[in-house]
Amino acid sequence: MSEPAQHPLLLRQLRKHAPHVDPLAPEWRGFIAAVGATYQELQQENAFLAHTLEVTSSELTEANERIRRDGEREVASISDYYRQVLDAQQGMIVCVRKVDGEFITTLCRGDLARRLGHTPESVEGRTLAEVAHAANFDALLAAWERAWSGQDTFLTYRNGRTGIDVFAQMRPRYEHGRVTEVVASCVEITALKSAESELREAKDRAEAADRAKSEFLAVMSHEIRTPLNAVLGFASMLRESHLSPEHTVWVSTICTAGESLLTLIDDILDFSKIEAGRLSLLPEPVAVAPLLDAVGSIFQQRALAKGLTLETGFGPGVPAAVQIDPHRLRQVLINLVGNALKFTREGYVRLGVELVAAPAREGEPCTLRFTVADSGIGIPPDRQDRLFRPFSQVDSSTTRQFGGTGLGLAISQRLVRLLGGEIGFTSEPGRGSVFHFTVRAPVAALPERPPAAAATADFPTGAALRILIAEDQLENRMLVEDFLRDRGYAPDVVENGRLAIEAATSRTYDLILMDLLMPEVDGLAASSAIRAHFGASRGPRIVALTANVFPEDRARCRAAGMDGLLAKPIDFKQLIRVLEGEAPSPETR
Ligand code: ADP
Repeated sequence: MSEPAQHPLLLRQLRKHAPHVDPLAPEWRGFIAAVGATYQELQQENAFLAHTLEVTSSELTEANERIRRDGEREVASISDYYRQVLDAQQGMIVCVRKVDGEFITTLCRGDLARRLGHTPESVEGRTLAEVAHAANFDALLAAWERAWSGQDTFLTYRNGRTGIDVFAQMRPRYEHGRVTEVVASCVEITALKSAESELREAKDRAEAADRAKSEFLAVMSHEIRTPLNAVLGFASMLRESHLSPEHTVWVSTICTAGESLLTLIDDILDFSKIEAGRLSLLPEPVAVAPLLDAVGSIFQQRALAKGLTLETGFGPGVPAAVQIDPHRLRQVLINLVGNALKFTREGYVRLGVELVAAPAREGEPCTLRFTVADSGIGIPPDRQDRLFRPFSQVDSSTTRQFGGTGLGLAISQRLVRLLGGEIGFTSEPGRGSVFHFTVRAPVAALPERPPAAAATADFPTGAALRILIAEDQLENRMLVEDFLRDRGYAPDVVENGRLAIEAATSRTYDLILMDLLMPEVDGLAASSAIRAHFGASRGPRIVALTANVFPEDRARCRAAGMDGLLAKPIDFKQLIRVLEGEAPSPETR
């Protein structure tokens, strides 16, 4: 019996490892045939598996390839989408990386990029030095550096090539905690910039116009005040002469009308000055009680004439003196007390001050509240909201009945705000009104002497007083000269500042009444020259005669060495006080 040919491998193994076995023996033949068949089956299965594996792996490779291609397509479409979005934006996105100390643009997209002449091809991959216009290089480099150091950075620049104004916000982008890129998001602001510069120009023009208006008002006020000065002065002299009763009434009417005209001019001037923001405060140490008393005494006569009581009161803790502009504080008080008297037929007017808040720390301001209460006609509730509006009165019959311009409270409100406080009131028709306002002012040391009454013992009085009048306007000159001659003085008269200097330095005068606006040399320059001539001995007393009564004018008078100021039209009572040796402080109006 031959060996089973199909199992040579198995027979070889048998012979090697079990030489005693006879593969041809019947008991082994069956076994070997079974093993051989199984082996063949295994081989077939193996071949099948190998085939299947081959097929699957190529399918897998294909699927893999498909996924990769799909992925790439997807990525391409997403980046295309974002590129289109970036390109479609009105602004510009620029990304840069710092490589070897140089900023390289990695992305530059957007409509603004196109308008600035940047294409992705011309910019991406290039250094800042290659891309930026020379005019913008330094600013851009500094901004990129700042953003690269981790700070959000903003930059506004005008593109040197196109003149387009750009606003750029630069932000660092981080990877693994390190800045790897800076992303700048830019918008065009050319229109904004030109609107801004147009606005600035318009503002400059408006301010210039405002200054011109102010100048115009100041000049006009001077021009109106000067002839009015003569009208009022001569009218009041006429009133004192021997007139028929009828003529006395006429002249008194001229005086009253002239005085209201003057008040109106002053109010309009003050108001326009405040509105133009050109009213500056001149704070100084001011004794509170004397100031209140002085306001009271101005109105005492008028109160008496109307049969009203006028009282002044001080609350506890009110400091003796505060640092404040006395002229402006007085102006508000005078307006309120004037109104209270005007609108009260019987009863009282009370003027008071109290401490609302002491200074929090030394040197800080305290808050004072001033109150003017009256038992007058009151203000109807439906009219109360219009009171602080300029030119507004409770009703149109007010002007006819009581006079006034309706500017007083508007001015007071603005002045009080300048003084750091607020003004308000409560009122009941038929029972009276209480106007109150606060001011914030630091506590001050008491001024050494009240500036308004600086009388000196060695000032000669009566005809012995040697007076020089320096005034270019004929009517004003005559007015003051006639007034002085009527009272027995023998003044010298000159018509400009140069002649005033000549006279003052060649003759002896006790008092010079000096107009400010004069040809050749004005009153301020003349006063400075006279003061310089006399040096430490000071020389004559110099009092300004002027229609310009703003704090700046007073300050200028003081700076020129003048001792006082008399406002035109001249109040002759004030002039008499000057002749008696008092130097009305340059704040007297
Ligand atoms: P005017 O120059 O007309 O007094 P104001 O601005 O000072 O202007 O006042 C405006 C108006 O407010 C006055 O015309 C008057 O109608 C009313 N008013 C002001 N103060 C009082 C008061 N104490 N009592 C009654 N009415 C007042």
